[in-house]
Amino acid sequence: MVTETSSDDGRAFRRETERVVNEIAQGLRRLDDGAGWFGSLSLVRQQGVLQAVTGYAMQAHMTAADGRVGVARSGVKPTANPSVMICMDPPRYGFAGLPFGEYVNAFRVLVSGFAVADARRRERYCKGACTHAWHNLSAAARTVGAPGTGPCA
Ligand SMILES: [Zn+2]
Repeated sequence: MVTETSSDDGRAFRRETERVVNEIAQGLRRLDDGAGWFGSLSLVRQQGVLQAVTGYAMQAHMTAADGRVGVARSGVKPTANPSVMICMDPPRYGFAGLPFGEYVNAFRVLVSGFAVADARRRERYCKGACTHAWHNLSAAARTVGAPGTGPCA
């Protein structure tokens, strides 16, 4: 793993990642658009994004069933390695260990599976009234620089 950025830059990038992924999950951004953003990053950053989204998916308690729904929505073939991994019970998460050529597919599958799990969490627990910064993106945009704190952060 190469460290290529200052910590400030790293923080800004983590915020950007969180925003892009949650905009996709909440239907504010198209998956194709997100995949284009992901594909424009360096491989080191792509690995970082895959690891970050893996963390989001685990936090949202993504299941193998969520993974199957996600694969169906992702545009990635069900036989591709990332699709097979995410449909395992429990899902396998070593996406950053895949060959580089599979990273974009891994991103599509992983974000799609996370979106399914996160939609369930928003519906059951958040009900439009939570303090998760990443569930309140328009509010977050008005208070740029506010710390992304919340009870489940
Ligand atoms: Zn929430």
